[in-house]
Amino acid sequence: AEPPVAGSVPQRGDPGLRLLRRVGVVDPTSLEAYRAAGGFTALRRALAIGRAAVVREVTDAGLTGRGGAAFPTGRKWAAAAAQSDTPHYLVCNADESEPGTFKDRVLLEGDPYAVVESMAIAGFAAGAGRGYLYLRGEYPRALHRFEHAVAESRRRGYLGRSVLGRAGFDFEIEVRRGAGAYICGEETAIFNSIEGFRGEPRTKPPFPVEQGLFGKPTVVNNVETLANVPLVLERGAAEYARTGTAQSTGTKLFCLSGTVRRPGVYEVPFGRTLRELLTLAGGVPEGRELRAVLLGGAAGGFVRPDELDLPLTLEDARAAGTTLGSGVVLVLDDSVDLPAILLRIAEFFREESCGQCVPCRIGTVRQDEALRRLVRHRQPDDLRLLREVGQVMRDSSICGLGQTAWNAVESALDRLGLLGPVTVPATAPVPAPVRTAPGG
Ligand code: NAD
Ligand code: SF4
Repeated sequence: AEPPVAGSVPQRGDPGLRLLRRVGVVDPTSLEAYRAAGGFTALRRALAIGRAAVVREVTDAGLTGRGGAAFPTGRKWAAAAAQSDTPHYLVCNADESEPGTFKDRVLLEGDPYAVVESMAIAGFAAGAGRGYLYLRGEYPRALHRFEHAVAESRRRGYLGRSVLGRAGFDFEIEVRRGAGAYICGEETAIFNSIEGFRGEPRTKPPFPVEQGLFGKPTVVNNVETLANVPLVLERGAAEYARTGTAQSTGTKLFCLSGTVRRPGVYEVPFGRTLRELLTLAGGVPEGRELRAVLLGGAAGGFVRPDELDLPLTLEDARAAGTTLGSGVVLVLDDSVDLPAILLRIAEFFREESCGQCVPCRIGTVRQDEALRRLVRHRQPDDLRLLREVGQVMRDSSICGLGQTAWNAVESALDRLGLLGPVTVPATAPVPAPVRTAPGG
């Protein structure tokens, strides 16, 4: 089934949805319909104003990555464009494997030509001649629609040699499908996967903008990030940045799921509160009480019912010790078994660790075991062990998976007070292991 889509009208008299404006309205299989709805005007403008000006517009717009880490997009493009090593590549990350995330799927299924156009613009800006869409394997409709859009765009000169007649800009798009591993959404694991190796992350730095796919300068952008780019070019940076806040410009797609009346993808300007977002989605079912919201996904954190006035911006989330991540808003009412959710999260990380580095390979197993014991027996030693293992994973894992595998558990303990009766100070010394004499 197609996830439902909804949204609120952005602020300051703006006429409506932005990223979702064509979804469910314009035929996603028709290039003509896309053109009639304003499609490809941004690509024309990009080619007219030139690479440097495109990068400047995106930088001035304050666009940040929507995959979860919120890195400034213009800075990334400028860094790749400045590399003398050739060729350059673009990778659009459509792996979308964070549990509770389904916004990129909606964009790819509902507005695939916009992703083609955005990739062409990003490729142009970064000096790339080839772009890869790395697609979650479980999205067959997105695959079908995107491949159709690529073929039609190539046939009509929006891709291929001398895009739209611009000499010196050739751009091709290839689709590569993931095979279900969460870790293959990590950007350097994507490179390995495309190159035909095991999907294991590489150490960073060097960052992909210097050495990425096939060892060459590569820009990696999430689908939603790229979907913002035509808006920036159509409206201009200043106009784009008028929506949202000074540090979080534009709108954000949020994926509402869990015990909420109208789950789906919602587009709101940065700065709306979590309460407003939940109200848009109808709140929890009649007769139920909100217990918590998991914001930002398995690597994110819990928000309590008394914290719902949190403005949904990068800066407010950071100040509150959480993250918007990839836009997961998992709503949990009083019918939900929270310890069971935590155990599921711990099991998820244990399953999905690629096993390449020790802190994560062993840490995710220890975390899962200790949490299971803690839920059952409430022993302070297990709580101390959890904290220690979590900190080691955060400090010394190679990639984001291990570094964030403890976030939700820590947040449940500290923010929700879950498993509270055994809480001990975080600084409490870990008891020395009991040693026995040889043969004892
Ligand atoms: P990161 O902070 O390491 O990097 C973010 C981006 O900025 C990367 O593209 C990186 O190459 C680039 N970057 C960082 N520093 C740079 C520099 N100095 N110069 C040039 N480029 C630089 O984060 P990450 O590990 O890539 O991603 C972690 C995020 O992924 C988490 O926030 C998590 O929420 C999210 N995530 C999303 C999904 C999903 O399905 N969308 C799944 C898993 C995780
Ligand atoms: Fe693999 Fe985990 Fe290490 Fe990442 S942190 S490289 S997923 S073992």
